[in-house]
Amino acid sequence: MPKFVAGNWKMNLGPAEARLLAKAVASMEFKGVEVGVAPPFPYIPIVAGELVGSEVLLGAQNLFWEDWGAYTGEVSAPMLRELGVQFVIVGHSERRHIMGESDEVVNKKLKKAIEHGLRPILCVGETLPEREAGKAKDVVARQLEEGLKGVVGEFDVAYEPVWAIGTGRNATPEQASEMHLFIKERLGNVRVLYGGSVKPENAGELIRAEGVDGFLVGGASLKPESFWGIIEKVMEAG
Ligand code: PEP
Repeated sequence: MPKFVAGNWKMNLGPAEARLLAKAVASMEFKGVEVGVAPPFPYIPIVAGELVGSEVLLGAQNLFWEDWGAYTGEVSAPMLRELGVQFVIVGHSERRHIMGESDEVVNKKLKKAIEHGLRPILCVGETLPEREAGKAKDVVARQLEEGLKGVVGEFDVAYEPVWAIGTGRNATPEQASEMHLFIKERLGNVRVLYGGSVKPENAGELIRAEGVDGFLVGGASLKPESFWGIIEKVMEAG
C-alpha cells in the first residue's frame, strides 16, 4: 500500500476558497503516494469538479449509518458515492468529543461506508488525561475493538492523539511509532496514518517513524504550500 496524505478541511473556507484550494491540490505532481482531501459537505461537488483528471482522492468528513429517510441534517453513503466521494473519515475526535459519537455509532458508520464502497479512515486516539494516567493503549484498544466489531473490508486507521490535534503539539516520532506498532500488532496489515499538528517542519521525522504510513492533516491542509510541503516530505522518505 502506498503512503497516504489526507487533508481534513473541517468546517473551514468559503466556496470560492475551497475551489481555489482544490485547484491547487489538483495541480500538484506527486508520485508513489496517495493524496486526498475531505472538504465540508456543501463543497464536495465544487471540489469534485476541480479534481477531474487528477489523481487526488475525494473524501468526506463524516456520514450517516442509514441510506435514506427521515434523518434531518444527515448525509448518507449513497449520496456521497453519487458525488464521487472515495474515502470517508469516521470517528474523528471532534465528532467523538463534541458531538458525542460513541464507539457503537462509529461501528455502524464504518460498516455503512464499506457496504457502499467508501474507504473509511477510522480515527482513534487518547486524551491528555488518559495518556497521563497511562491508559493511552487501553483507550485505543477499546476504540479499535468496539469500532471494528463485525467489520469486514478495507479501511485505514488514523492515530490522532487528542492532545495533538490543532494544538501545535505533535506526538514525538517515538510516541507515534509505539502506538502505530501497537495498532498493527492488534489488526495485522493495516495502513496507519498519524494525525495531530503535522506540518512540513515535523513531517520528515514523523514519516520515518516505524509504523507511520502517512498523515491525516488538519490545519496545514488549508494552505497549498504547507500541504505540498508535507507531501514532499512523504515522497522524500520513499
Ligand atoms: C485532524 O483534525 O485530523 C488534525 C490532525 O488536525 P491538525 O492537523 O490541525 O492537528
